[in-house]
Parts: sequence; C-alpha cells; structure tokens
Amino acid sequence: MSRVFNFSAGPAMVPEAVLKQAQAEMLDWQGSGMSVMEMSHRGKEFVSIAEKAEADLREIMSIPSDYKILFLQGGASAQFAMIPMNLLGDKTSADYINTGIWSQKAIKEAKRYCKVNIAATMENVGFMRTPKPGELKLNPNAAYVHYTPNETIGGVEFDYVPETGDVPLVADLSSTIISRPIDVSKFDVIYAGSQKNIGPAGLAVVIIREDLIGQAKDNVPAMFNYKIHADANSMYNTPPTYTWYFAGLVFNWIKENGGVEKMAEINFRKARKLYAAIDQSDFYSNSIEERSRSWMNVPFTLANAELDTVFLSEAKEAGLVSLKGHKLLGGMRASIYNAMPEEGVDALIAFMMEFEARH
Ligand code: PMP
Repeated sequence: MSRVFNFSAGPAMVPEAVLKQAQAEMLDWQGSGMSVMEMSHRGKEFVSIAEKAEADLREIMSIPSDYKILFLQGGASAQFAMIPMNLLGDKTSADYINTGIWSQKAIKEAKRYCKVNIAATMENVGFMRTPKPGELKLNPNAAYVHYTPNETIGGVEFDYVPETGDVPLVADLSSTIISRPIDVSKFDVIYAGSQKNIGPAGLAVVIIREDLIGQAKDNVPAMFNYKIHADANSMYNTPPTYTWYFAGLVFNWIKENGGVEKMAEINFRKARKLYAAIDQSDFYSNSIEERSRSWMNVPFTLANAELDTVFLSEAKEAGLVSLKGHKLLGGMRASIYNAMPEEGVDALIAFMMEFEARH
C-alpha cells in the first residue's frame, strides 16, 4: 500500500494515525462487539463518543461555556440558509462581506430571506485581497454580519476579525477551523463543513452563543431550527454518527499533537515555504496580496498554461494528487490543511522546482 499526498480542497486528507485508529476499531469499538456505525445514537456507547467529541472540540478551540456546539447535517451550505432563518429575529436586513465564491453563495441564499447589505465587495480588485477594516460599511441595524474568513477557491483570507459592535458576527470557517487558535468570544456564530480539517463529509459544526438561539419563526422547518437541535443535543433525528465519531478522533489527535497552537506553527511554515517557492520563480505565480494569502488553500498558475496537463499528470506520478485548480479559476490549487504533513509540501516544492528546470 502506498498513500499519496492529496492536495484536495475537500474531502481532504485526514491524519493517518486517525485512519488507523478507525480501522482498528472498525469491527469492535472498545469491546462493544459492534462498529460505531452500527450503534444506536441513543445508546450509552454512542452518547459517550458524541460527548467526548464535543468536549474535545470545546477544549482545543477554548470555546466559552456560554456557546453551544451543534453537530448538524447539510454541510456548510445548509448553514447559508439556517443563518438568516435563525438570526434575523425581527430585523429585515443583514450585512455580508463579499470576498469570493463562497461568500457569494451565502449571499444568494440569504437574499431569499432578507435584504442583503453588501458591507464590502472585493469584486473591483478581482478578489485578490480581503477588505481592510476601514473599508467595511456596516449597518448598525443589521441582524448580523456574515463573512468568510477563508475563501477556499480564491485562496484569500482575512488577517483580522472584523469589529461589529453589538451586531452579531457570523463566520464561515469551513476551511480554517482548528487550523490555528482563534478567540471564539470575538464571534457570535461559527460554522464549518467537516470535510476539510475535521474529517469525513457529512457534518456541519455550528458554534453559537447561547442567547442567539430561539429566534426562528414558526414556519422554519424543525431540521433548520437551531433551538430544536440545541434542545436535543443535536440528536433531534439520527445524526451522522460515524462522521461525528471520526471528527472526535481528529479532535483527540489534535489534542495529543500539541493542540491548535502546534497546528498553526506547522501550517504557517507549510504555507510560507510554498508561497516563497512560488514567488522566487517566474514559472509559477500567485497574485493574491500578501497579507490576504490563505494558509490553507494556495492557488497558483503556470506561466505557460499549455503545461497544466503535463504538470498534473507528472505530479500524480510523483504521488502528488488533486492539484487541479477549481473549475471556475483554472490553474492549480494546493490545499494544505492540518493533515497534510510538512513532508507533503516539501515534496510538492521539490517537484515544482524540478518540473520548472525541465520545462
Ligand atoms: N463554505 C466554504 C468556505 C467552503 O469551502 C465550502 C466547501 N468547499 C462550503 C462553504 C460548502 O460546504 P458544503 O459542501 O459542506 O456544503
């Protein structure tokens, strides 16, 4: 068996140690005589798994006790709708910051429910950077401010947390959650799909300040109502139990490997060396403004796009896969989440330099 370095944006690599643990526990979880996927979600075994996953996430992210953690279905995309459905209350508008494709998807969905005020858009600069704090035109009467701290496709990220005063701040952390320490108390709602830094697809983790729960109108379907999920500890219906368990294994792995502080140190080093390799070459380029460059998703282009196919096929032969850029942007993209070992990035850089020399 040989495993490759997989640069996919998601579903993405998971730590090998976690895969091995899941393999070892596959047929018989801790003497229960069954696989986690065969367990009742109401049984004491699974409830203990679910509680540990939640406690470990709370610990690694230092989530204050007045925030509720929900494990929901529908991925991050369901949150695009659940945010307005649950946070508008009596207000009629919300602020959105447009930094690229994922914020635009959130905006499109919110427009079904409320007036969207675009607090800033980076369209005029080709989404090559995030807005500076002074560029945000926030409405003090907005129900909330929504932003995308890291745009997975564009590879741009915020280097600060917007100040929104009394207006709740909502962040789509799908592609950066648990990649570094953050101060959760600066946010009011954080949500993230699971298939990047957390584990297999199938979950959205929602971290929400408790007093914001309970504002959904009666016409909001039960499955889209935070209060119903919060009151049922995310077990209103059958949750994606195996993904939840697997996410717990990843949280535990982070705990045992130096926490998000250590992840940040390694992630920063990985990103810095990859950007340095791109910048010192005329053959590769990345045009994102330096302060807005993503640590997680590194898009780059080859000076000669005719070489893209050869690049991808030779990279694959070298055990470096899923480097093809998103179809909307073309070029290449290397996603380097927590589970991408530093050796994977070193191997990619070595391959890029060698490819450049040959072509
Ligand atoms: N937001 C961001 C920033 C993403 O990267 C993605 C997925 N790539 C989504 C939302 C959508 O996530 P899901 O597929 O889990 O709905």
